[in-house]
Amino acid sequence: MKTRKSEQRELVLSLVRSTMEHPTAEWVHREARRKLPRIGLGTVYRNLKQLAEAGLIRETFTGGQPARFDGNTGRHYHIRCVSCGRVNDLPMSVDDRLEAEAARAVNYRIVGHEVEIHGVCPSCQGAPSSRSRKTSHKAKRATKEAQKRS
Ligand SMILES: [Zn+2]
Ligand SMILES: [Zn+2]
Repeated sequence: MKTRKSEQRELVLSLVRSTMEHPTAEWVHREARRKLPRIGLGTVYRNLKQLAEAGLIRETFTGGQPARFDGNTGRHYHIRCVSCGRVNDLPMSVDDRLEAEAARAVNYRIVGHEVEIHGVCPSCQGAPSSRSRKTSHKAKRATKEAQKRS
């Protein structure tokens, strides 16, 4: 028989692994409550931290943003939208030369590196902001197409 604790842990793990969206604790909590309506945000957060420490998921480099968690524990880079905050995997190879160069530059024992590129995602490129003029129909159509492609 499964304990409540292991049930919560397995649910949190499967939710993070179920998405490519690098969810925040809030997202995982919202989804977890569909199955375990009484699970608290604190419990979800604690489980996320423990799973990350155990190496089963990864906590992404966040630069002051709310923590995001990644079911993909392989080495890879991320791109973050500076407008809506979404985080996607970046399909490019990991550059080990950065670590070799860092090792030459300082006396640290290097254990790894992360790269997060910042940009504006296709949805946000087309989204009219409150200050900008009305977007033309043409621009709207281009946005829709960009969203379909992404
Ligand atoms: Zn965006
Ligand atoms: Zn990722």
